[in-house]
Amino acid sequence: MLTARALADHFDRVTVIERDCFPVGPVPRKGVPQSRHLHVMMKRGRLILEQFFPGLQDAMVAAGVPVLDMAGDAAWLTPAGWGLRFPSDLTMLASTRDFLDWNVRRRLAGFAGVGFLQEVQVTRLLPNAEGSGVAGVAIHFRNPAGGDDPQDCSLHADLVVDASGRGSRAPHWLASLGYAPPAETVINGFLGYASRLYQPPTGFKADWKCLYIQAAPPNRTRGGLLFPVEGGRWLVTLSGGGRDYPPTDEAGFVEFARSLASPLLYDAIKDAAPLSPIHSYRATENRLRHYERLPRWPDNFMVLGDAACAFNPVYGQGMTIVALGVKKLDEILRMRNEASRTDGRLAGVGLAGIARRFQQEVAKVNIAPWLLATGEDFRYRETVGGSPTLATRLMHRYMDQVVRLSTENREVRRQFMEIFHMLKPPSAMFHPLVLRRVAGQAWRLMTWPKGTVSPTPTVAGAGRATVGNT
Ligand SMILES: Cc1cc2nc3c(=O)[nH]c(=O)nc-3n(C[C@H](O)[C@H](O)[C@H](O)COP(=O)(O)OP(=O)(O)OC[C@H]3O[C@@H](n4cnc5c(N)ncnc54)[C@H](O)[C@@H]3O)c2cc1C
Repeated sequence: MLTARALADHFDRVTVIERDCFPVGPVPRKGVPQSRHLHVMMKRGRLILEQFFPGLQDAMVAAGVPVLDMAGDAAWLTPAGWGLRFPSDLTMLASTRDFLDWNVRRRLAGFAGVGFLQEVQVTRLLPNAEGSGVAGVAIHFRNPAGGDDPQDCSLHADLVVDASGRGSRAPHWLASLGYAPPAETVINGFLGYASRLYQPPTGFKADWKCLYIQAAPPNRTRGGLLFPVEGGRWLVTLSGGGRDYPPTDEAGFVEFARSLASPLLYDAIKDAAPLSPIHSYRATENRLRHYERLPRWPDNFMVLGDAACAFNPVYGQGMTIVALGVKKLDEILRMRNEASRTDGRLAGVGLAGIARRFQQEVAKVNIAPWLLATGEDFRYRETVGGSPTLATRLMHRYMDQVVRLSTENREVRRQFMEIFHMLKPPSAMFHPLVLRRVAGQAWRLMTWPKGTVSPTPTVAGAGRATVGNT
């Protein structure tokens, strides 16, 4: 949807081809099964979304979506103890994915030149006459109107963007045009999700608005999140890495919640009324397709979002990475328009070369979040698809210290949160203010007599940290 919105600034007509029939309200649909699970959008992603759809945030808040201060309102149990809490501007809109999609979809429909083809599946790419690129797509109507309407036909386009998610068939489509399929890296930490909506107990009171009990692999494989969402409900997602999948039966789900490192989540849901069945999801491997490395790339065809790079969702990066990819797309198209305005010879020249450049740019966007997600997944013994390098192991040690500091030092916590929200690059983890403190802490741990520094801060008093704590 966001891709279509960006394209609408550059093309007279944009057609969204969707396999599903869009529901009329904010409800799940088959093509996005992950929508039943908690979807947090990082602040960076939200800012980009707002740029393309001004007023979206206010409308969602007015419709009952809670605004959470992720430093102040979230009780976040890190592997090293409770993250420090303080009021901040690191806000997040807590909606279900379906509610977000529905709001975006309705706004997109209002843009001139944007059309939707629903219950239509893209089946392959159409080559252009010169054999240098793509001229459109072959489509299949899944539910034809009947009569003489054809079930399969062609749709011609100046540019085709594949944003069809994890199940993208782009490697096959490219192969059928004679292009080499991309190399693929898959790193699987075997994470599973199970999620359920709840009605909070009447009069429920806590000093937090949302809970995040983080896993601490390799030993603590279980995690849980409780977020308030629109409609005054809670969305609870339990996660287990290294094949420690959360169950989907009533008793098993509750027992899994009870087994988390803090009792807060279990205590909250034990008297809450379930509003939905328990849904599970296990196809969570990190999958990176190296389109940028291909020696030949067709003009007029681009791949972005999960279709190019899908992450283990537990780090909450996916939608923001899509947004960053779309922003790149917009920038590249803007530069092309600018060039054709200032150099008359380029006017109407087409999109040759731009698609290849886009794949290279989007690969740069993906690399840091990819290293972050896969690096963390290597903490699980069960992870397959590679093994941690020395650099990854050193990074684990460094991050352990940063996380430990984030339980006691406000500046470090803030820096960590800004990186988490993708407002700063991961390299900011090595900012002198963090580096100095990590070095100081490592020195303390090495030199202080045993027992004077707790190597694993206790979680007693969990979540009771007061707002304004420093
Ligand atoms: C369990 C889980 C939890 C997650 N939690 C978070 C989170 O907290 N925060 C976050 O940022 N991200 C999260 N993600 C990741 C996020 O869901 C994805 O990164 C994001 O949806 C990717 O968007 P996309 O547009 O690339 O693909 P999708 O959103 O998957 O959309 C693909 C669309 O293409 C359609 N389609 C597919 N094939 C065809 C075809 N051949 N023809 C026509 N239409 C087709 C599908 O029906 C679908 O509508 C989570 C993912 C999972 C699995």
